[in-house]
Amino acid sequence: MIVVGRELAGGFECSVDVCVVGSGSGGAVVAKELAEAGLTVCVLEEGGYYAPEDYRSFSFAESTRRMYRGAGATIALGIGDSPAVQIVTGRVVGGGSVLTGGVCFRVPDSVLDEWCKDGLEDLSPKRMEPIFAHVEREIGVSETSENLRSGSTALFVAGANRLGMAISPMRRNVEHCTGQGRCTIGCPTGAKKSVDVTYLRKARAHGAVVYSDCLVERVVTRGGKAIGVSGRVLGGSRGAPGAAFRVHAKVVVVAAGALHTPLLLRASGLGRRSKALGENLTLHPGFGVGAIAPSRVEGWKGALQSVYSDHLVKDGVLLLGMFADPSLVASRMPGVGARHRAYVEQVPSTALFAGLLRDRGRGSVRRGFGREPIVTYRMDPVDKAAFVRGFCTVAEMALAGGAKEVLVPLRGQAPIRDVDALRVLARSPIEGARFESISFHPLCTARMGLSPSHDVVDESGETYEVENLYVADGSVFRSSLGVNAQVPIMASATRIAWRLRDRFARIRRETA
Ligand SMILES: Cc1cc2nc3c(=O)[nH]c(=O)nc-3n(C[C@H](O)[C@H](O)[C@H](O)COP(=O)(O)OP(=O)(O)OC[C@H]3O[C@@H](n4cnc5c(N)ncnc54)[C@H](O)[C@@H]3O)c2cc1C
Repeated sequence: MIVVGRELAGGFECSVDVCVVGSGSGGAVVAKELAEAGLTVCVLEEGGYYAPEDYRSFSFAESTRRMYRGAGATIALGIGDSPAVQIVTGRVVGGGSVLTGGVCFRVPDSVLDEWCKDGLEDLSPKRMEPIFAHVEREIGVSETSENLRSGSTALFVAGANRLGMAISPMRRNVEHCTGQGRCTIGCPTGAKKSVDVTYLRKARAHGAVVYSDCLVERVVTRGGKAIGVSGRVLGGSRGAPGAAFRVHAKVVVVAAGALHTPLLLRASGLGRRSKALGENLTLHPGFGVGAIAPSRVEGWKGALQSVYSDHLVKDGVLLLGMFADPSLVASRMPGVGARHRAYVEQVPSTALFAGLLRDRGRGSVRRGFGREPIVTYRMDPVDKAAFVRGFCTVAEMALAGGAKEVLVPLRGQAPIRDVDALRVLARSPIEGARFESISFHPLCTARMGLSPSHDVVDESGETYEVENLYVADGSVFRSSLGVNAQVPIMASATRIAWRLRDRFARIRRETA
């Protein structure tokens, strides 16, 4: 059942086995796995509820306003010579999963091995393999066929071929995708198997109740144990404060995303014992290069992302062929007035090449004045060098693929028309504060590990400070992944949910 909070006449109170906070890639998975195991589950989501029939008719502006946190305008403030990074996350039933390009990667074995060396042996590639396979079945992951490549992707492939760089087809969670190019504002055809149409549907079919527009303000504890949550329903009539709600639960699972999980845990009294809560934020800082081709590429026709290159993975950079909503591309064009208009007219001939970093840099999330956190981030010098190498490499690919001009992600940088100028730029010192960077994957702010004073949750996902309180979202990773985060988060949440399921079964057996 879905309860639309905004339509409720007042507050509510209920009792369940498991209360899940947040309905994104982590929360939805936990809800389904535990509801399917016969537990009573409720999911509380701050964002609104929209069915695919709703979001298929949203314009880009309407979609960002309704389904993105802060309309996509959360900023990580750069510390020292670091860029301000725009962080884009979801705030909707289904969380960021509704807004993905559908890209699916597993956590690379090398990263899992690092975590094993830190003592998390249950995360070995061998043990995680069946969990990844389970998630991929649930959300229908398959290789993207060549006929879904957009003109933008074709240019990426041409450039890679000319430079002798290997490319691989992207794996995505779609079925019968017709390449509408609108993935990041909610798939209009229902082809994308985001968690709202997969995991949450199954959770509801097994009796879970999903509440939209319900902001959890506190995890309620007694004697060092979580016993439920309290909060308020958003959208009170005529701006009135929302009515209060209270959920009593045997177990609380927080999956509010890496920006909000630490805030909720802090508001609930955690963070005294562990120094890690809200720290260690990684971002996968991303870059985009606009490639202006001599003729139309119509990058919006096809899958927004369908190929990638691991050419620079050894340097911590994943290179991605992509496109974005044309209005967004237009808004990022250089110049003002007539010059800007001239560039906007070239949107149909513009391709986008992108990349993301497996970052060493770290940031933190602290309580701000209102609802949203203050986020800060210090970019590591190694990441800065990788950022420049990454965007210069894709810019060179673009020129090799036939682009007449490239727009690189550096504030104040004029468009570049030849490879020599690009190579000079690549060798020159560039301030990190000039980078134009975007993040879709904030992670690691409630880290899993073996130390109660340096980590936030144990191997099962339970917090060290409060019993029966779990975390199951992108916050729990120990370090940056270097690949898109949704499948890693779903797999991690599955593992945590299965452990919880076994724990409930054990208690039932013992008390039977
Ligand atoms: C535009 C975009 C494109 C992306 N593309 C890809 C892609 O192609 N492939 C990929 O792998 N990843 C992609 N991602 C990233 C991916 O969506 C996220 O990494 C993932 O969904 C994060 O899962 P999560 O459970 O940690 O958090 P989220 O999905 O962010 O879910 C957290 C939810 O908790 C809710 N919440 C927060 N605080 C509270 C509270 N106090 N009370 C109640 N509810 C609360 C939030 O509103 C949110 O809905 C993309 C993300 C975006 C935004």
